[in-house]
Amino acid sequence: MRPFSYARARTLEDAARLTRDEGAIPIAGGTNLLDLMKLQVETPDALADINRIGFGGIEETDDGGLWIGGLATNTETAIHPRVRTDYPVLARAILAGATQQLRNKATTGGNLCQRTRCFYFTNIDQPCNKREPGSGCGAIDGIAKLHAVLGTSDQCIATYPGDMAVALSALDAQVEIAAPSGDTRRVPVRHFHCLPGDTPWRENVLEPGEIITSVALPPPVGGTQIYRKVRERSSYAFALVSVAAIIEMDDGKFTRADFAFGGLAHKPWHDERIAETLIGKVASDDVFDKAADILLEDARGYGENDFKIPLARRTLHAVLQQATEAAA
Ligand SMILES: Cc1cc2nc3c(=O)[nH]c(=O)nc-3n(C[C@H](O)[C@H](O)[C@H](O)COP(=O)(O)OP(=O)(O)OC[C@H]3O[C@@H](n4cnc5c(N)ncnc54)[C@H](O)[C@@H]3O)c2cc1C
Ligand code: SF4
Repeated sequence: MRPFSYARARTLEDAARLTRDEGAIPIAGGTNLLDLMKLQVETPDALADINRIGFGGIEETDDGGLWIGGLATNTETAIHPRVRTDYPVLARAILAGATQQLRNKATTGGNLCQRTRCFYFTNIDQPCNKREPGSGCGAIDGIAKLHAVLGTSDQCIATYPGDMAVALSALDAQVEIAAPSGDTRRVPVRHFHCLPGDTPWRENVLEPGEIITSVALPPPVGGTQIYRKVRERSSYAFALVSVAAIIEMDDGKFTRADFAFGGLAHKPWHDERIAETLIGKVASDDVFDKAADILLEDARGYGENDFKIPLARRTLHAVLQQATEAAA
């Protein structure tokens, strides 16, 4: 690991000063950043420890929703009674990720900003447009089993690896962001992560020095909430395909169908047309097929990851079947 300075920020202003004056990168749980520093993928000159800036914990909001602090740990969020009762899709998604030890350290902000698990990105001897713009993409003609089939570009086909953000996208949560100036803004989780396009190094909408202070959940949404994660091992593995779903049915017909998908794209994948296809329809294989057709209309495999296209179809079918049985 290369030498770097470390300073503990006690306030947002401290963190802003460190990022502005010393070019520091924020560190929260460190479970992703330190790994990448050891591999020399990330080479910051300075770290700003943001664990003491005061955005931990989980609180009710005035509208009955929940405020999840940017520094709340994944464990705190997953076991919170309101999260378990009112947003079970979120608790299930978090518990499907990493390990208990990692979840005890991992934070809301760090989890949202975790970087891709592409093998070429994490190996500094390999070409990677995300790590070193213009160097090429090793994955496109290489080992691409974990890679994206939706929203790719000829610059990058990496996937976003997280689980929590997939559930937050289905819930239509908002990310609250503080700028170094002290201004704050809110961005829907659905628009927080970016597609690779011509700028694969830009993974989310954060500007330099901006800090995630919280995630806001809407008032309880009800419905049958499902998180299904398909992976190579039953624990401690990233998703090949995952589905977060909030589904309501009345009289055998879909009245709500909010979906987001993990493992398929450079961001949690949300497509409003799936809900439009399902709402008002009686559950049937035919209707499930139409929803999968919409999801995978523009899907493209890169050889090794071709299997993700039929796998996504089957996983969506299974989730719709499970929701239909729950509503019966
Ligand atoms: C072996 C292993 C298996 C894993 N499996 C899974 C899995 O199956 N599913 C899953 O979802 N995750 C998985 N993870 C990833 C893990 O969840 C992340 O490492 C963790 O959530 C990152 O949070 P952190 O607080 O440690 O972030 P850090 O490592 O501290 O930071 C990560 C990035 O976020 C930035 N950052 C941190 N906090 C903020 C903030 N508040 N505002 C702005 N930027 C910020 C940092 O600058 C850094 O760039 C796994 C990790 C490991 C090591
Ligand atoms: S897929 Fe993206 S992250 Fe992976 S090698 Fe290509 S450019 Fe780099």
